[in-house]
Amino acid sequence: MTTTHAHGIGAVRPVNWAYDRAPMIVYWELTNACGLACRHCRATAMPDPAPGEFSLAEIEAHLESFAAFGEPRPHVVFTGGDPLKRGDLRQILHAAARLGIGASLAPAVTPLLTRERMAEFVEDGVQAISLSLDGSTAALHDGLRGVPGTFDATMQALDDAASVGIPVQVNTLVTDVTAADLPAVYDLLKGKTLQRWSLFFLISVGRGNQLQEMTPGKAEQLMVWLGRLARDAPFQVKTTEAMQYRRIAAQAALKRGLTPEQIEASPMARGYGIRDGNGIVFISHLGDVTPSGFLPIAVGNLRDTPLPELYRDAPLMKALRTPSEFKGRCGVCEFNLWCGGSRARAYAWTGDPLETDPLCPYQPKATL
Ligand code: SF4
Repeated sequence: MTTTHAHGIGAVRPVNWAYDRAPMIVYWELTNACGLACRHCRATAMPDPAPGEFSLAEIEAHLESFAAFGEPRPHVVFTGGDPLKRGDLRQILHAAARLGIGASLAPAVTPLLTRERMAEFVEDGVQAISLSLDGSTAALHDGLRGVPGTFDATMQALDDAASVGIPVQVNTLVTDVTAADLPAVYDLLKGKTLQRWSLFFLISVGRGNQLQEMTPGKAEQLMVWLGRLARDAPFQVKTTEAMQYRRIAAQAALKRGLTPEQIEASPMARGYGIRDGNGIVFISHLGDVTPSGFLPIAVGNLRDTPLPELYRDAPLMKALRTPSEFKGRCGVCEFNLWCGGSRARAYAWTGDPLETDPLCPYQPKATL
């Protein structure tokens, strides 16, 4: 759908990232079983599958229901827990491929993730995988992941992925404690082959609440640094649940003399507008549908209602796609169609997913 920029960074103009028709990405937690025990795990994963996980036939039927989204169909990221804990993962991937649905995988780094397995991913049409790297040394990474040896295995997995030719996104957790290590992580990653580095700014949910989020001031400084780094990095740099990175990058581009239209037409605008419930949606291993994996308010269950209906029509999903109705600073911010703030963090901190993102210190030009 086409909407109009209500506040206008200089001009009122049409934008196309409302994602009312369909999400760009469906995150599907195939299982909560996982061999790791990461301190910040969203899924609070368990060693064995929970009763009530979807059968292969159910998953196939739900993938078929994506047809109601129209074209292009959303991309699916199969996540967990560890999706490799599903014995029928290959059949699930074949079903997605048969239905013309692009798929990526977010495997855990355990002995299940071998080079041979990655070669199978390529055969099965997997477009990319994501791997987590939360520290530049074994002591830092393994300390967070809870299993010694995971750092070395992750380095090996990066090399294996490069050797079979599967694109990799590396996900790195950002907390008050881990932030100082990020330049070293970046230096390490520069020596590897990857498509994208995604920095996930911790939200205090799941096991993560034992760790501390950054303060807004420090987060802002870090994102300014990231914005500079991104211009020369050999891979894309993005943030997760820190949408104001887009505002910071856009402010820098405006300062360099780019117009809002030029910004919107540039590659940097590719992810603009995407946030919990707007462009993304999450399915839990039991079928609960939430706006993202980090915003734990179920708008329904796949066993009762097809995903296209829940995504398009659930009142919360609609509210999350209407930034002008957000509260506080995010509601009046001139960047809110591009950014919109982390609805998950707003919920975690205030109990209201439409509130201001507490990680962002920006004072919008418009008054409240
Ligand atoms: S105030 Fe909200 S919409 Fe504006 S930049 Fe900050 S997080 Fe984004």
